[in-house]
Amino acid sequence: MTTAEQTVVDTVKPQLYIGGEWRDGAESATLPVEDPASGETLVEVADATVDDAKAALAAAADKQAEWAQTAPRDRSEILRRAYELLNERADDLAVLMTLEMGKPVAESKAEIAYAADFFNWFAGEALRIDGRYGVADKGTGRVIVMRQPVGPCLFITPWNFPMAMGTRKIGPAIAAGCTMVVKPAKQTPLSMLALAQILEEVGLPGGVLNVITASSSGSVMEPLIKDPRTRKLSFTGSTEVGRKLMEQAADQILRVSMELGGNAPFLVFDDADVDAAVEGAMIAKMRNIGEACTAANRFHVHESVAAEFGDKLAAKMGELKVGRGTDPDVEVGPLIDDDQRGKVEELVNDASEKGAKVVVGGSRLNGSGYFFEPTVLTEVPREARLLEEEIFGPVAPIATFTTDDEALEAANRTVFGLVAYMYTRDLDRAFRVMEGLETGMVGLNQGLVSNASAPFGGVKQSGFGREGGREGIAEYLETKYVAMKL
Ligand code: NAP
Repeated sequence: MTTAEQTVVDTVKPQLYIGGEWRDGAESATLPVEDPASGETLVEVADATVDDAKAALAAAADKQAEWAQTAPRDRSEILRRAYELLNERADDLAVLMTLEMGKPVAESKAEIAYAADFFNWFAGEALRIDGRYGVADKGTGRVIVMRQPVGPCLFITPWNFPMAMGTRKIGPAIAAGCTMVVKPAKQTPLSMLALAQILEEVGLPGGVLNVITASSSGSVMEPLIKDPRTRKLSFTGSTEVGRKLMEQAADQILRVSMELGGNAPFLVFDDADVDAAVEGAMIAKMRNIGEACTAANRFHVHESVAAEFGDKLAAKMGELKVGRGTDPDVEVGPLIDDDQRGKVEELVNDASEKGAKVVVGGSRLNGSGYFFEPTVLTEVPREARLLEEEIFGPVAPIATFTTDDEALEAANRTVFGLVAYMYTRDLDRAFRVMEGLETGMVGLNQGLVSNASAPFGGVKQSGFGREGGREGIAEYLETKYVAMKL
């Protein structure tokens, strides 16, 4: 680490944030945060115990009634100021994120802007929470509908977007008047701690947001999920863990939002602008080193344009500079850890053993850090595991199709349903395919769907609930109806 990088790391309070106070864990244990580009430990952060977690929930529960009574304008202003401060400090925050997560600094900066956008968006939504007044159908009474904060929330977030996956939940919760306990992933707690410092600085009252970092997420979170004071669980992470958490949430019939894994198809039709499709493919595949739930996992390309698309994509992938994300020329950072790299390698080997051709890349890079070459595979057979499993790495497998029905059938041939991308210039075809896709989101002639003003979320085993857009705040509001006799 350089001295400047060390200074950035030193600005973070490596402690638990509970009830407006920064403190060590009850047992003073710590957990190391590693730089995936070198394997070096950046810093140790507090490792919460179950008692610490319960203290965080108690702080959130104690603050709930008072926080729900605050003026919407006050909640909105806190979010607006946090949005501004995040943007002002984006340079340092981006270095911090890159150090713990690995992505190139330019991408970290883009994530900070995206994360801040949720605060800006929900600063507006805080002012627009409304209800309804109507005359009952028989005319004898009145119907009043009010919307109230759901209550104390639990948020569990992944390492791949260490800040934005937090602000998508924290923003609407603050706007709606909910208090919360947040547990970031153990690989990337620093961005969340830095965010908590910013929210404290802009005047978020103590107890509204509580942050715990822990090495043993399962044992620390389960008692909170089963605690009757908790009213809502919002989780972003793998489908496997989401399924477990839903079982735990059944205990208290908790309201649940699940943002889970993906397996996005990227369809290129014969009438597509191939250059635009390649450009979109680079974004859909390589954003976040391929470690995004929205990452294009598999490319289904019409047989007439498959060779051109494959050649052009391989040329661009082969030119990418791989290295430590803090180097300004680097375009592809390391994967998060050795397990993740091992999984990517296993999927590539499986595909090539089953007949896929490695056109570019295909291997890990030796030396320190968890680097894997940007990879393009063509002639990928149907039985290759990477057409079914989330790759979470810089690997683009290409398979071909002949008819639109075949393309749609291939796109939907998965238990996941987060996002699909499609390139076509034919409006009829675009609508037919969009309507047939079993996903929560579609990128039509563009490789990026993430946007704070739009409802992000999936169907099937990619989960349910929406983050962002007008839908985002509804996840944090309960509807109460009053029957009024006149
Ligand atoms: P993960 O292993 O499911 O972990 C996600 C979070 O859950 C982490 O904070 C983790 O903490 C925690 N966790 C793990 N086991 C737990 C348990 N038994 N009880 C409570 N918490 C537990 O997922 P990941 O590897 O970090 O993230 C990658 C996955 O997230 C991919 O599948 C990706 O598609 C998905 N994702 C989805 C979206 C979306 O919006 N749909 C967005 C981003 C990512 P520790 O790591 O500290 O144990």
